[in-house]
Amino acid sequence: MVGNMVQISKNLNFNGISPRNLMDATYKAVENFQIRAFFEAKGEILETGKYSEEEFYEFLDAMIDAETERKLVLESLKGKEPLFLEEIAKIIKDFPPENVIRDVIYLKEQGYIEEHIEIKTKTVIKKIKGEEKEVEEKEYFYRYQVKDLPDGFIERFFEPVSIVFDSEVCCQCGWCSSICPVNAITVTADTLEIDDATCMKCGLCYSVCPRSFSIEQAGKSISKIEKSLKFSENINGYVNAYSASTTKDDIKKVRQDGGIVTSLLEYLLENKLVDAIVAVKHSEELWKPEPVIIEDVKDLYKTSGTKYANASTLSIIDGTKKFDNIAVVGVPCMMNALEKGSLFPSGLPFFKNIKYRIGLFCMESFPYEGVLSLIKEQFETDFQKVTKMDISGGKFIIYLDSGEDLNVPLNDVKSYARHNCHYCEDLTADYADISVGSIGSPSGWSSVITRNKKGEKIYKEAVKAGLIESKSLKDVKPGQPLLERIAGIKRKNCKPIILQKE
Ligand SMILES: Cc1cc2nc3c(=O)[nH]c(=O)nc-3n(C[C@H](O)[C@H](O)[C@H](O)COP(=O)(O)OP(=O)(O)OC[C@H]3O[C@@H](n4cnc5c(N)ncnc54)[C@H](O)[C@@H]3O)c2cc1C
Ligand code: SF4
Ligand code: SF4
Ligand code: SF4
Repeated sequence: MVGNMVQISKNLNFNGISPRNLMDATYKAVENFQIRAFFEAKGEILETGKYSEEEFYEFLDAMIDAETERKLVLESLKGKEPLFLEEIAKIIKDFPPENVIRDVIYLKEQGYIEEHIEIKTKTVIKKIKGEEKEVEEKEYFYRYQVKDLPDGFIERFFEPVSIVFDSEVCCQCGWCSSICPVNAITVTADTLEIDDATCMKCGLCYSVCPRSFSIEQAGKSISKIEKSLKFSENINGYVNAYSASTTKDDIKKVRQDGGIVTSLLEYLLENKLVDAIVAVKHSEELWKPEPVIIEDVKDLYKTSGTKYANASTLSIIDGTKKFDNIAVVGVPCMMNALEKGSLFPSGLPFFKNIKYRIGLFCMESFPYEGVLSLIKEQFETDFQKVTKMDISGGKFIIYLDSGEDLNVPLNDVKSYARHNCHYCEDLTADYADISVGSIGSPSGWSSVITRNKKGEKIYKEAVKAGLIESKSLKDVKPGQPLLERIAGIKRKNCKPIILQKE
């Protein structure tokens, strides 16, 4: 069997590696449990019908190549002192720096590499309530080194994501259920179930789950070495930051803030840059979001506006396979999931049709029942009368069908938020192509962060087409400083994820 698998590998990026080293690395790679489990379950996978035979071999091939690359990276790092990710990417020249960085993170998770964290304290001057004060700030430095491995060391086996759910850190994004090759996982906004009889223990769900292991250090390092990007510790890599508002009156009627998300989606659909969009609309139960696939601009406006309850949006991605190009709208944990799915296990995304990721800023979301209790207990109001909810200026605000609006301090509603949001460090959707939120911009406007060339291009095109009025975020108040500050608070308060077996 191993022989067959070695023949399958046909990556052309191993030029320059000695044939002996490449052969050794490939033989080690095909011993990887994930590759073996995937290969051995070929019959069940094809019977499930989610992936075609051609796709199956394409994924298998990519998984073998990526694992071979990791084994070569591991060999190159043996005997070296602890190094920063950027330093490792410079030393190992056989592969692109972003591949080397993601390989180190995966090797760490597989048990080969140790992460050394050094904490330094520095004094900075900060303006607090108009007065300049000296404040102590902690700085974290992450270095990576190959472990001294005992004889007979066995690479770590990735368990199915029930370990994430049982540890109460699952953000219910639904990505694992779309990825699972044998449809063993069912995710809703508050449950996750794995059919043990169907699960083939491949650990693919673990590899792509945003809550299994963090990609924060990899994301930061990749952004830092990408010279075309600006970099901020709190909002990560970006091309430009804008403040923007839709020019379309129809969108103004239904939008949450600047109506930028709906305007961008309309631009993508109208110009056939995508065939469909994955977003959320109100379900039959008002204020309960329901993930939907939208093909027609006329249905798009039903998705506009923020529903503060969470939805397992990514669980419907596997229903988009008939479309060549799609855009996905989601909160930061979902963007993180999509990024992880494109980095691991192979660098070949399972859904190549995802062309655009539109991320929303998000401080927290609420369980649906939590939203209902919040409206009832904090506002003594029937939720059927609520036409819009908003978080702005440190307040949770509801707008009623009578035209009246009511608000309570945000701190008073924090206890209704989802427990698992406390493990989330990302406010501004670091892994989107374009991130959109209200913090930093005036009412009726959105703050927009373009994260890469693709995001910047479509944003500029939508502005040029007259759909969006745009300014630099530097030219509005409170602007980027407030956004950076709140993003920093979210990172600082984020709890570490510790996965525990039942
Ligand atoms: C749970 C949640 C918390 C948020 N918290 C903050 C915050 O703390 N600070 C901040 O600045 N901004 C926050 N936002 C983003 C903000 O509310 C707006 O979504 C954003 O400013 C875009 O506004 P817009 O007018 O451009 O969007 P619109 O054009 O109105 O489009 C809204 C889009 O949001 C999507 N959407 C709505 N609800 C959900 C949901 N539950 N899950 C996934 N997608 C959804 C819809 O599909 C639609 O495509 C949050 C959004 C959500 C969903
Ligand atoms: S992929 Fe998403 S839904 Fe699945 S376990 Fe991880 S966080 Fe939960
Ligand atoms: S549940 Fe996870 S481990 Fe089990 S088959 Fe699906 S992806 Fe693989
Ligand atoms: S706070 Fe984080 S985990 Fe919670 S919904 Fe927002 S992005 Fe997801």
